Amino acid sequence: MSLFEPDPRRPRPQPPAPPPDGTQPVDPSRGHPHPAYPADERYPGRPDQRPELALPRRPAQPGQSPQPGRRHSADRDQPPAPAAHPPQRYSSPQIPQRQLFQPASPRSAPGGRLPALLPDPSDRSLADRLPQPMEVAAARESTTRIALIYPELLGTYGDGGNATVLTQRLRWRGLSAEVVSVPAGEPVPAGCDIYLLGGGEDEPQTLAAEGLRRNKAIEHAVTGGAVVLAVCAGYQVIGDSFPAGGEIHRGLGLIGVETRRSFDPPDAPLPPRVVGDIVIEPDPALGLPTVLGYENHGGRTRSLPGASGFPFGRVVLGLGNGTADGTDGWVAGRVIGTYLHGPVLAQNPALADLMLSLVHGSLPELHGPPEVEALRAARLRALQVA
Ligand code: GLN
Repeated sequence: MSLFEPDPRRPRPQPPAPPPDGTQPVDPSRGHPHPAYPADERYPGRPDQRPELALPRRPAQPGQSPQPGRRHSADRDQPPAPAAHPPQRYSSPQIPQRQLFQPASPRSAPGGRLPALLPDPSDRSLADRLPQPMEVAAARESTTRIALIYPELLGTYGDGGNATVLTQRLRWRGLSAEVVSVPAGEPVPAGCDIYLLGGGEDEPQTLAAEGLRRNKAIEHAVTGGAVVLAVCAGYQVIGDSFPAGGEIHRGLGLIGVETRRSFDPPDAPLPPRVVGDIVIEPDPALGLPTVLGYENHGGRTRSLPGASGFPFGRVVLGLGNGTADGTDGWVAGRVIGTYLHGPVLAQNPALADLMLSLVHGSLPELHGPPEVEALRAARLRALQVA
């Protein structure tokens, strides 16, 4: 029996008894709200505090210099140790690089049903047609509803933390938020402001795609202006198609990308799974600083000919889409797909604020938290890209 067919043996959910503390009971049709944060929660520490994060030294193995080719922040005042060999982050490709990038066979572009609310750099005139975000905000409920889609299927890599970051950044600004966690097998509510899809292994990813294809709620919500952040498996699922279990599965077609194990001729060896840090420079149209994350995927993703939108960013370190243009992710309208785990919003609060501003219009600036800024700086130094 499919996960998404009603189980006749399973009792229908009953309304829960009111909790003894008198708080609002959970409405199962609206999912499970996230435990509330204290309304007066503030950053730990003052904004002018900038703690220096010193990464711990890894003890050197006998006969080995620590972390060849890399410098810890604790080593900043020392001359760099000569690299025994260049840092190697991924398995070396098993096939010639040029074979990875065969031209795509012509595919029909997905229908233009996405509202183009983020500027597409290839269509400058779009910027003039952007609706004012405040108009959208006025039409929305005062509590921002953030749907966390199938966290048990698409949550292997901690991407649920993206919901926590969005919630907390709203609350720090005095705005209320509710995380609607949607378990697999339950209907996805169409009335949320933000939809989050995380990463997962091939099989859970296939189950998630099956459930979401039946439901269509995200497609409807996006047509109505909802914001989507889809990471890795989630990114593949919201595209046109993706591989799993030796087959190609249909995605939601929310964005015009397709994923394969490789884009090589069928007899070519598979390229290796990519696992490691990833750093990207987001498309300037997004107005974001450098975006940091972590990637772990076997799929390679490219845009379909004529697809609306643009790559999320240019890869500085890591692989991302794994296409010859050196990009990661895809942005179409208010839908953002990327290979970056992290959780990506925890490491890149500016991206969280971009998403929130699409819902609320311009928000009061919120610097920090200082710990995140210090962590970003330390990671950039450790990755030798700053
Ligand atoms: N299963 C997909 C792949 O390996 C996505 C993995 C992930 O979400 N980290 O490409």
